[in-house]
Amino acid sequence: MAKKTISRTQFLRGDYRGRNAIMRPPWSLAEDDFVEQCTRCGDCLKACPENILKPGRGGFPQIDFSKGECTFCQKCQQACAEPVFRSTEQRAWFYQIEFTDRCLSKNGVVCVTCAEQCEAAAIHFVPRVGAAPEPQLDAAACTACGACYQPCPVNAIQFQQSPTISDTQPSQRLEAYP
Ligand code: SF4
Ligand code: SF4
Ligand code: SF4
Repeated sequence: MAKKTISRTQFLRGDYRGRNAIMRPPWSLAEDDFVEQCTRCGDCLKACPENILKPGRGGFPQIDFSKGECTFCQKCQQACAEPVFRSTEQRAWFYQIEFTDRCLSKNGVVCVTCAEQCEAAAIHFVPRVGAAPEPQLDAAACTACGACYQPCPVNAIQFQQSPTISDTQPSQRLEAYP
C-alpha cells in the first residue's frame, strides 16, 4: 500500500489529514508561505481591536467571525514583525460568502438579517412567487468582512474561495466556522 505523505504546510499547522484550510488575517500571504514565515508569536491576536483573531491549529492565527467582523483596520499587519503579509493595495481576501440550505429564507421563512448587516450592500433578496424572498450575493461587492456571519439566526453563512481567486492564494476549501 502506498505510504501517505503530508506536506510541510500540513505538518507545520498540525493538519495531518490535509483537510483544513482556514482564513488567516486579511492580506496574508498564500498558506504555504504564511505558515513557513509566521512565528506564532501572537502579536496580531493582541493587536486586533475586534478580537476576531485566535490561535488556530498549530498555533497559527486564524479568523473567528463568531466574535465580530473585520474592519480592515490593518492593525494585525502593523503589529507583525514577519514578512507574512501582502500589500494592502491588493484585495484583502479572496473569499466570499455562500448561503447554506439552513437559510430560513430558502425554507419559506422571511429573514433579511444578513442583508441588514452588510455595509457593502452585497446581499439582495429576490422575490419568489408563493415563497419568501431568497438571498442572492453580489460576489464582486462582498469583502468577506464577516459582518453577516454571527447575526444569522441559523448559522447559514459560510465562506468559500472566490471563483476569481488569485494565484497568490492556496487552492483549499475552508473548514467550518468558527
Ligand atoms: S484588519 Fe483589524 S479587524 Fe481585521 S483582523 Fe486585522 S486587526 Fe482585526
Ligand atoms: S440571515 Fe441567515 S437565515 Fe436570514 S436570510 Fe440571511 S442567510 Fe438566510
Ligand atoms: S461578508 Fe461582509 S461584505 Fe460579504 S455579504 Fe457578508 S456582510 Fe456583506
